[in-house]
Amino acid sequence: MEHIHHVIENLMAGRPEACHLAKALAKQARATHRRMARARSAGFEAYETTITDLLLTELAHVDPRFWGVVRFTSHEERRNGADWQWWIQRSNLSWVCLWIQAKRLYHPSERYEQLKHEVRTGSGGSRIRQSRLLVEAARREGRSGKIQPVPLYAFYNCPQGKRAEPWRCEALEPCQQQSLLGITIAPARRIDDLVVEGKNAYGDVLAASWPLSCLVHCSTTRAGHRPQRSYASTLLTGMEWLHTGDVDLPSTPSLPSRIEEALVTDGEVVAEESDPRIALITGREGLPGARMDEVPKELKELVDLWELEWSGRREML
Ligand SMILES: [Zn+2]
Repeated sequence: MEHIHHVIENLMAGRPEACHLAKALAKQARATHRRMARARSAGFEAYETTITDLLLTELAHVDPRFWGVVRFTSHEERRNGADWQWWIQRSNLSWVCLWIQAKRLYHPSERYEQLKHEVRTGSGGSRIRQSRLLVEAARREGRSGKIQPVPLYAFYNCPQGKRAEPWRCEALEPCQQQSLLGITIAPARRIDDLVVEGKNAYGDVLAASWPLSCLVHCSTTRAGHRPQRSYASTLLTGMEWLHTGDVDLPSTPSLPSRIEEALVTDGEVVAEESDPRIALITGREGLPGARMDEVPKELKELVDLWELEWSGRREML
């Protein structure tokens, strides 16, 4: 554990916010891995929705000045297959929207059994692969004059035993870091292609996905440590890196007003047809209702640490 922290801190040296974020994402991946292992050892498998709720709750605590979560009151029938949407603010203060579908790895088959899941569109409508629905619904949303969401998959994993699966992180060594694979992500289009080929095994999907924390450490390494000044811009750099050449990230001038209101009131909001269960919001500027004087303790410690180290170096010069 210490080793992993040490490496992430070295990678993100001098950039406390990116480091704080990379560590938070890595921590959630490890926590997910651990929760799934503990559930399994107690004789059952954790539900995706449970894992998603815990993940988004913890992400909202990364830095409550800039992160928030809003729950939608249940909609009988989701029309897009997404489990959560993620709004991330650009430097020009417009918002990018992602639609994310979560799937867990099944045991002992070590397959994403639900990936081939088909859903019926409308009452008595034809059946469609859920992965195709996610991609198509995002496209349709864009055509209807709303913002076009970027479709994405998040996988919850707890593979058993020693592994020799692909390790796609370019910034960290695989040794002792298997639990970073507790959450992996991939563009939905890549995953839909796999499903068409009939592939849903852990190894096949892993070859097309990345550890969640790579959104920060790999994209940052690739971008040549160009400093990003916020969680939001760091994440958007990561999303662009994840989708290289594949897709642009459209944005809209403002958050849906019902989400903005819910951030102020801490309330649930009534779902529209295309809303998933829950929304995660990452602002570049402070979120409505957030107290801007509350810097998270871990972030404050990181900043202090580096200021101390930096002043020490100056004295040595
Ligand atoms: Zn990485």
